[in-house]
Amino acid sequence: MSARILVVEDEEALTTLLRYNLDAEGYDVETVGRGDDADTRLKEHVPDLIVLDWMLPGLSGIELCRRLRARPETRQLPIIMLTARGEESERVRGLATGADDYIVKPFSVPELLARVKGLLRRASPERLATILTYGDIELDRDKRRVVRSGRPVDLGPTEYRLLEFFLEHPGRVFSREQLLDSVWGRDIYIDERTVDVHIGRLRKLLNPGREQDPIRTVRGAGYALDDRFAKAGE
Ligand code: CA
Repeated sequence: MSARILVVEDEEALTTLLRYNLDAEGYDVETVGRGDDADTRLKEHVPDLIVLDWMLPGLSGIELCRRLRARPETRQLPIIMLTARGEESERVRGLATGADDYIVKPFSVPELLARVKGLLRRASPERLATILTYGDIELDRDKRRVVRSGRPVDLGPTEYRLLEFFLEHPGRVFSREQLLDSVWGRDIYIDERTVDVHIGRLRKLLNPGREQDPIRTVRGAGYALDDRFAKAGE
């Protein structure tokens, strides 16, 4: 699965340039031109990284950044802030608001690409790992095999993708809609209850004795890996 990047920028020429270059690097790119529209989009779907312009119509980059940090689903979302030269003195405020990195306009494209790559690697080394582990669960991507406490677990393709997705984002809570978007793909229409069905199957297969459920239901929010489970497996 390629990393998904949301570019929030109102200058069309720059948006086109960023889209073209990020796309060429193999990222899955989406662009939004207004801060308030980005806020709405991010409530539906959380990307792997966001490139966020400081000055935006609707809602400023700073305010959007503050909102994202206040919500559990986007608290750890990597954010690269774009600032114009005159705004550079404001960068401290930007980083204090919660941006992970900032880059001053005009910038070189290779520079931005390097920052994106570095930040993605820091934020989710899991994305690049062959073997993902969580507690006593081990998922081997090369062999497409899942093992729990040394015993093989036979998962269907959808349950496998769900587990892989959770393991790539430990600690993050995903709504049904976000799971549909990320695991099934955003162009397919499937009822949200389908997610519950597959989560139920995944739970049963991973945890036949119903002793330790690695997946947590977050009331009103969705699903996440249970962090108590990871600690128990250490
Ligand atoms: Ca702007």
